Amino acid sequence: MPEKVVIIGSGPAGWTAAIYAARAKLEPLVYEGSGLDGNTPLGQLNLTTEVENFPAWPFVDAAVLDQFSKSALPQERYANLSHYYTGKSAHHGKRAAFGPEQMEYMRQQAVNFGTRIVTDDIAKVDFKKHPFVLTARDGTIIETLTVIVATGARANYLGLPSEEKYKNNGVSACAVCDGALPRFRNKPLVVVGGGDSAVEEGTYLTKFASVVYLVHRRDQLRASKIMQDRALHNPKITPKWNSVVDEVLGTDKDGVTGVRLKNKSGKTEELEATGMFVAIGHTPNTDFLQGQLALDEKGYIRWTKPQRTYTSVDGVFSAGDVSDNYYRQAVTAAGTGCMAALDAERWLAEKGHH
Ligand code: NAP
Repeated sequence: MPEKVVIIGSGPAGWTAAIYAARAKLEPLVYEGSGLDGNTPLGQLNLTTEVENFPAWPFVDAAVLDQFSKSALPQERYANLSHYYTGKSAHHGKRAAFGPEQMEYMRQQAVNFGTRIVTDDIAKVDFKKHPFVLTARDGTIIETLTVIVATGARANYLGLPSEEKYKNNGVSACAVCDGALPRFRNKPLVVVGGGDSAVEEGTYLTKFASVVYLVHRRDQLRASKIMQDRALHNPKITPKWNSVVDEVLGTDKDGVTGVRLKNKSGKTEELEATGMFVAIGHTPNTDFLQGQLALDEKGYIRWTKPQRTYTSVDGVFSAGDVSDNYYRQAVTAAGTGCMAALDAERWLAEKGHH
């Protein structure tokens, strides 16, 4: 028997789709990702700190969140979060829930209603046949009546050979993942970009760095007003306007030791730094679709009906950042995840599959 609905991806869109599909008794199967080749199970929220703009999460005592996680999650999943509550890196006082906490809660909510989960990637799809045929990375073949693609997007890099050379040796696209590493403590750091990610990562890195250079190619940030104010008033952040990183400097032994900047008039300047954090936007995770769904010019999946999550293939739906180059928020991803599950449910009913 084919599956009724397979959800590919495990960010806010994937889990919301799973919660709705499970409650509609569609017994969804979620491929949550393997975590290999830089893919990020639990989505980009899992790489972030406090999420202050997801509704229903006011500030609360960290100790209360500890109790909440203990009560909501099985022990092995609670273990993923326990460093927030105990030990040296424990957080105290009032705060919003962290992204990884919210993702564990979403995942668990989907499990509670009967969602089945496989920790692997879908490597290949065949949407020319129906039931659709999906092939997992480990070779498992899955047949399914509908698919919800919710694979999100991944971080972009500048594309310099020197950047590639020092990846994981001072170059990172995730301050939250890497910022606390010893090599970045009390040292100057560089953040590249002018959007919310760049100012958020720069602000976060001031916890560890002696100074954070915020390198932006224009003289104005793109980030939201409140976040840029916070960053630009932070005494540890020094903006470098109208500048791009021309070269990442380093040695095999020490990794990154600095960057060379080039400004608009062609003048170069070298900055000493032990790390460069790149925050210049994202690319949708659609490579595995191998041209079987219509994509836009940037590779995002196109919705083919206004206000619906239908794609170019009847019975395949998409949700979250993989089809959203504009809002890119956890709450909008969750919203479209809900829409995709309802669209899939109604599609199945129309075709007589109950
Ligand atoms: P973004 O808004 O697209 O900003 C990318 C930044 O990188 C822009 O400033 C862009 O410069 C710069 N850039 C792009 N390519 C570059 C290159 N090759 N070299 C140098 N600079 C380059 O991306 P984002 O900051 O990742 O944010 C994405 C979405 O997530 C946004 O909707 C944002 O609001 C949201 N977000 C929200 C939060 C939050 O609310 N807590 C946190 C993070 C992200 P230009 O400005 O010149 O184009």
